[in-house]
Amino acid sequence: MRELGVVPYAAVLCVAGNIVSVGTTRDALKDPWIKKNKRRLTEIDCGGRVVLPGFVDSHTHPVFAAPRLVDFEKRISGATYEEIAEAGGGIRSSLAAVRGAGKSQLSAEVLKALRKFTAHGTTTVEAKSGYGLSLADELKSLEAIRSAARDWPGTVAPTLLGAHVVPPDFQGRADDYVDLVCQEMIPAVAKRRLATSVDVFCERGAFTEAQSLKILAAARSHGLSVRAHVSQLKRTSLERLLALQPLSLDHLDFVDENDIRLLAKSNTVATLVPGANYFLGLREYPPARKLIDRGAAVALATDFNPGTSPTASMSFVLSLACTQMRMTPAEAISAGTINGAWALGLADRKGSIEPGKDADLAIFDIKDYREIAYWFGSNLCCQAIANGVPVIPAAD
Ligand SMILES: [Zn+2]
Repeated sequence: MRELGVVPYAAVLCVAGNIVSVGTTRDALKDPWIKKNKRRLTEIDCGGRVVLPGFVDSHTHPVFAAPRLVDFEKRISGATYEEIAEAGGGIRSSLAAVRGAGKSQLSAEVLKALRKFTAHGTTTVEAKSGYGLSLADELKSLEAIRSAARDWPGTVAPTLLGAHVVPPDFQGRADDYVDLVCQEMIPAVAKRRLATSVDVFCERGAFTEAQSLKILAAARSHGLSVRAHVSQLKRTSLERLLALQPLSLDHLDFVDENDIRLLAKSNTVATLVPGANYFLGLREYPPARKLIDRGAAVALATDFNPGTSPTASMSFVLSLACTQMRMTPAEAISAGTINGAWALGLADRKGSIEPGKDADLAIFDIKDYREIAYWFGSNLCCQAIANGVPVIPAAD
């Protein structure tokens, strides 16, 4: 993760949305094909700047209708999660708004978020449903993601998170809701190809380990990849979850030595989302250093969502990773690019600047890649290229 393969004075040649060659500018200028086709090429001068693979944000919840500002203020004045929920805030307020919104309204919100992601240099985004929590509202959310993705030049990996929490209409009947997810939502989503993976919130107050395993097994039987939110509030044993070969396990604040050993042995990516720890004002962060040193593949993601991490900035997440979790700037960049691509099962196309991969690049107005995590709070991305399409970010 510490070896970025930096090429000084580099040039990247992209044709028809793909990276064709990577090397030095001097070699590129001597290339006979480039000489011959010079007039047909569009040249983007990145002199004195840093070009990275576009960020791969492998964990986001972009399908919501409004920010949760009242919750934000209440938490600052000391309200607990339960008190916020009792006052009609928390996930329930997002639920009511998503259920009441039309598909085109939701799709416009998702597109707005996707544009924000590109403005910060992100060209691939995983996008979860999970604020509908009924068959119709989860399908509506995934359709909103699909329609927004069509209007965005980047790549979206959609995920069904029907098992986010037990919705109020199923209170006290969690197992009935799990059956609805397994028997109706997953088959419908698989049939319509609305998602490539299924996620579950395996956590106190959400779904038990047994319920989570049931949901993920149903997803696997329908040919979908699986991932899970785990060990954010308290430890869950990872052994049985890992047996289902999830692409990623996310959060991991409370993993123990045995969990870390199992993760290191597996092909599952450990996705850390320190933006949530920051926004909730937590002192503790996930043990990135231990995970990396023991050999686990660590990815970083924003966890973009209205309740606990309303940021689309991978640069800020990378900065948190360096200052709060002692990842090196190089490790943070690997975690936000190639490891994110592995977490989405897209490492053959995304996450690094190599011939044969998609032309996803982010250009930063800096001289050294370490500045991305250093100048925290600034967006230094001046242009992104997503699947070969140049995107000049609007001011965010
Ligand atoms: Zn999440």
